Amino acid sequence: MKIESIKIENYRNIEALNLDFSDVNIIYGENAQGKTNLIEAIYLFTGAKSFRGTKDSDLIKFHSDFARLKIDFSDDERNQSAEILIKEKRSATLNGVKKQSASALGEEIKAVVFSPIHLSMVKDGPSERRKFIDNALCQIRANYKNALKEYNRCLTQRNVLLKDLQRNPELHDMLYIWDRNFAKAGAKIIYQRQRYVEELLPFAKEVFSGLSGGKEELDIQLKGAFEYKNLKTDEIECELIKTLEKSRTDDVLNGVSGVGPHRDDIDILINGKSARSFGSQGQQRSCVIALKLAESSLLKNLTDIVPIALLDDVMSELDEKRQDYILNHIKEWQIFITCCDKNTVLRLKEGKTIHISNGKVLGD
Ligand code: ATP
Ligand code: MG
Repeated sequence: MKIESIKIENYRNIEALNLDFSDVNIIYGENAQGKTNLIEAIYLFTGAKSFRGTKDSDLIKFHSDFARLKIDFSDDERNQSAEILIKEKRSATLNGVKKQSASALGEEIKAVVFSPIHLSMVKDGPSERRKFIDNALCQIRANYKNALKEYNRCLTQRNVLLKDLQRNPELHDMLYIWDRNFAKAGAKIIYQRQRYVEELLPFAKEVFSGLSGGKEELDIQLKGAFEYKNLKTDEIECELIKTLEKSRTDDVLNGVSGVGPHRDDIDILINGKSARSFGSQGQQRSCVIALKLAESSLLKNLTDIVPIALLDDVMSELDEKRQDYILNHIKEWQIFITCCDKNTVLRLKEGKTIHISNGKVLGD
């Protein structure tokens, strides 16, 4: 998929902008000029909320009462256009036909985004890593979102019961029933996550090796209360029931469920050592980039839609070799990169450079 052009009106600090794009696009300029705003505007066409967590009404330019974004995009088969209008609510049209919801555009337009916010995937605790896998799975497996909802419902109910048990021990038999529901829902999540990690790994390894000039090896492993590898869903369910039995006394005492996929983690390893504990800044950044681009490759393999890659401020902390790999060796996707450093732009062999200042394009 390729975004051919964009037209922006009243979006954050961008009052009016018309731009054509190439396969590789570098958006550069000083701080606070509108670089991230531009790729954030493109990202909204995936139907998602801003990757910076901003609510829609705050995306409208100060003192304006609407924002309008329009793109022309193409794939092997046809040229299409999509438009987003943000007023009190966000609405969207595809080829001039109104969509039932703005998020429905996501069926046609896919993107993988890297933002410095995503470094928390390596630097912070397990919830960020689970979020990465869960979001990726929601994009490729139609039933995953519901499976996740069902699991969270079981978890909440089990936790309520655990707290009640401290006052009403006679409710103990209920716990056996909830353990079964919990294990059934949890096994589906674990199975899908394990499969995803295994599918993602070869792609992530390839990008990471490219970034490090073949000197470093990346590994990722899903870590839970027991070994998940090679287990089918019903086998995971049996193991989870056994694990819940073992942790029952502690769970009742603490009033929370201490085991299950809500506590699982993804180990990210560089040459066998934890990237979180031992990785340098550049290595940690390279891990996240590798995982994001691998997510993109997998999406392409599984859905036939080639996503675009939006890489916000991806170059900082990377040495020249790693920067060159990103600039000149990623051919599979249309790619948008923001950066402040003019020298980075000079090393781009092919592609378009867009100089942004105060929400306007100054020319290549
Ligand atoms: P950096 O290099 O620091 O990341 P950037 O070029 O990516 O900078 P942006 O995040 O795109 O900068 O933001 C540019 C400016 O947009 C900021 O100065 C901010 O105040 C402004 N801005 C944000 N929201 C709005 C809005 N709703 N209306 C007008 N301006 C806004
Ligand atoms: Mg920025």
